[in-house]
Amino acid sequence: MHTSNKPVIGVFALQGAFIEHMRMLTALGATCYEIRQLTDLTARSYDGFVLPGGESTTQGKLLKALGLFAPLQERIRMGTPILATCAGAILLSNHIDNDSATHLKTLPATIHRNAYGRQLGSFATLAPCGNITDFPMVFIRAPYFTEVEDADVTVLARVAGAIVGVRYHNQLALSFHPELSGDTRIHQYFLNMMQSTES
Ligand code: GLN
Repeated sequence: MHTSNKPVIGVFALQGAFIEHMRMLTALGATCYEIRQLTDLTARSYDGFVLPGGESTTQGKLLKALGLFAPLQERIRMGTPILATCAGAILLSNHIDNDSATHLKTLPATIHRNAYGRQLGSFATLAPCGNITDFPMVFIRAPYFTEVEDADVTVLARVAGAIVGVRYHNQLALSFHPELSGDTRIHQYFLNMMQSTES
């Protein structure tokens, strides 16, 4: 953590829903920077990262094209906390069971893209996430996890039996969009991860 005690968060801003994450984290006292190119990543040291929702195939290609892919993967492996929502969770997952592509592969879990189909493309529901009760979860063409592949992956949230939130050490991966809920508790939980990344 930086000496000012104000966490410095890099929010990947290649595509998708990143502004809402920045607003929420800034409101909670973090300093946020958009990461659009390699120099944004190397310019400073970050206490945490956000990989937002959007379109995982596009984001995966952009990460590679911009030379961000390997440096980000390295920082995640070294233990920097990361909050990955929706497409971001797809980017982290070791396996995508309905897509031949995989991306960062830092999270030992299998995810299923667009798992709710067209009928239920977008919906909202209240469910617990870890110790957080009644969290308003917003799903937009969301994935869900079909399998966790390591005993250290903690399932934090399920909706109708499907896994929609997991934590694996420094990685917090969610199918839904906490940044669109108006509820800051998950972002606060993420900031708390910066105090202890070991758990
Ligand atoms: N459907 C998108 C994908 O598969 C994810 C949707 C989202 O991030 N809201 O990449």
